[in-house]
Amino acid sequence: MKLLLIEDEITLSNIISKGLRKSGYAVDSVFDGEEALEFMEINEYDLVILDLNLPKIDGMEVLKRIRRENVDIKILILSARSSIQDKITGLDTGANDYLVKPFDFQELDARIRNLLRRSFTQENSVLSCAHIKLDSAKKVVLVKDLPITLTKKEFSILEYLMLHRGEVISSEEIIEHTWDSEVDLFSNSLKFHLYSLRKKIKELSDVEVIRTIRGHGYMISDKLEEESNE
Ligand code: CA
Repeated sequence: MKLLLIEDEITLSNIISKGLRKSGYAVDSVFDGEEALEFMEINEYDLVILDLNLPKIDGMEVLKRIRRENVDIKILILSARSSIQDKITGLDTGANDYLVKPFDFQELDARIRNLLRRSFTQENSVLSCAHIKLDSAKKVVLVKDLPITLTKKEFSILEYLMLHRGEVISSEEIIEHTWDSEVDLFSNSLKFHLYSLRKKIKELSDVEVIRTIRGHGYMISDKLEEESNE
């Protein structure tokens, strides 16, 4: 999952993005309203964290413009503006959630998980497919009810594929949603993480759970009988 963090206070921005990366998200950070809209145009995000007191273009205006272009994206306002009227205006302008500063990081993290679940009509934090159960909140993965240890990157790749179970997902899409934009990525990098992820799963599952659909991408589904090519 990739998030855009719009926050002009550099220290706070660093703390939040560090925490979010620790939770397994890819994060792009921008520091004013103008930059925010530029990044929104170029990249694809799963969720936006939006401060309201921003240089260049005010957060409420940024919210309006993002919502005009994108009706589906989840937007969470994170602001020091704490009046009921501010909250009402924010939610009425199209934000999905509103958290007041100062805040507790764990609460922010939980609200983000909740919003992302709603994007995928997922009721709780546990995804389940084939032999695999993945808990986005506890960051636990079970294969045939036995835990496996994944790196953060492996976890987010698996989570993305499981949220889209039954669909073929291209390498570009996986990269777009699991890596920060500034990272210079070699195409081999995804293959490397996938190789390692599959190897760990296969130690407990006898079949290849992540299938390669040649020329198109990768898919995870409850149908396991077909053999993978790689
Ligand atoms: Ca601010």
